[in-house]
Amino acid sequence: MYLSKRAINIKESITLKLNEKAVGLAEKGNTIYNLTAGQLPFRPMDDFVKSIEKELNFLKSYQYAPVAGFADLRKKLKAYVENNRSISFNGHGVDFDCVISNGAKHSIYNIIGSITDPGDEIIVLAPYWISYPEMVMCWGGIPVVVESNKHNNFTPTMDDIRKKITSKTKAILVNSPNNPAGIHYSNQWMNDFAKLLNDFPNLLVISDEIYYELSYFDPKPTYFYQYDSKLLKRTMIVEGISKSFAATGLRIGFCITTKEIADAISKLQAQTTSSANSLIQRALVSFDFAKMPEFLNPVRNHLKINAQSIRRIFSEMGLSHIWYQTTSAFYYLVDFSSAPVFKRYSSSSSSASASASTSNGDECNDYCIQICSDLLEKHGIAMVPGADFGIHNSGRLSLVLEEEIFTRAMKILANFLRGE
Ligand code: PMP
Repeated sequence: MYLSKRAINIKESITLKLNEKAVGLAEKGNTIYNLTAGQLPFRPMDDFVKSIEKELNFLKSYQYAPVAGFADLRKKLKAYVENNRSISFNGHGVDFDCVISNGAKHSIYNIIGSITDPGDEIIVLAPYWISYPEMVMCWGGIPVVVESNKHNNFTPTMDDIRKKITSKTKAILVNSPNNPAGIHYSNQWMNDFAKLLNDFPNLLVISDEIYYELSYFDPKPTYFYQYDSKLLKRTMIVEGISKSFAATGLRIGFCITTKEIADAISKLQAQTTSSANSLIQRALVSFDFAKMPEFLNPVRNHLKINAQSIRRIFSEMGLSHIWYQTTSAFYYLVDFSSAPVFKRYSSSSSSASASASTSNGDECNDYCIQICSDLLEKHGIAMVPGADFGIHNSGRLSLVLEEEIFTRAMKILANFLRGE
């Protein structure tokens, strides 16, 4: 009776729940392969840790920063994005600015709050990060999902996107490299998307690029605005240090967009959280970003090796038909529906199956929660059910575990999928 409808309607995080369960089982002495992680299990670069240590003696590190972040860091982040995307924020007839927030999640939340009126539609491409629809709804917006599947490499088609655009559509949220699919949209897709956007001159794009640095096959991800730089004027680029610096707990994310939108984001941030962490902002000012490849190259290699293990093990176990090539971020979506074990679930009238509807209104039975629970309780494999990411009868696993442990986990998973 005390709670707002908004608070009541926010979905509980199944990821955190399963993670808690996995940790609880491990504490009781069970062997658990925790494949739910959304972060790299490594210590950040020594040079970055040293940059933090160097800033510890300055008063500035402990006091409020300007709401949008220290000016020298904002300038540096803009230059960093310009440099590694080969773009320029000059010459577009408008000024661009960077707003630093408490993580990329906070940046996205602020962006949605700054552009969404109640009833506005925000298009979300499936598979999508769990938090997008919830954040849109928190601000009174309506998330509109465009479907995709393993057969189109988890990449929604332009036709399907076009069909979902209405007079109420305010923005499209694009996440490439993608959580949970572990792919990035192709150059051709980005080129086509740029053309589509030109047919809808009022549409904004939120481009969540938090996994940009974590692609482990060539070619590197590209973005629609690299094919048509006029589109930068209606783009909000989101990045942060959680993934590429292995620093999820330091809570630094940022958004680069036009000054008009950046000012609105700052206004919102000023009345909610104020500036992000001053100490880490100062450390980022002095840190040499040219050092990043030293840290990232071994990480990329590690992800690639684990991605290749999935291919090898699935092939050895007669499961090649459910394999697909991941290229970036650190996830893989397991298609339960094509695995032999699936019949065991779909043929029983299990009460645990949830009837779900796809965005085009089709009804389907989803067993991914039941399957992920069995995988955890009976086989010690913790994964996140895929329905929350918009892909039914699938599960997300994370590629970050150490190679030998990861391989062991994949063999157990493959045996399970074969129905053994
Ligand atoms: N976007 C995506 C797609 C993510 O997966 C995550 C983190 N899991 C974030 C944004 C948020 O990152 P941050 O830790 O910087 O808030």
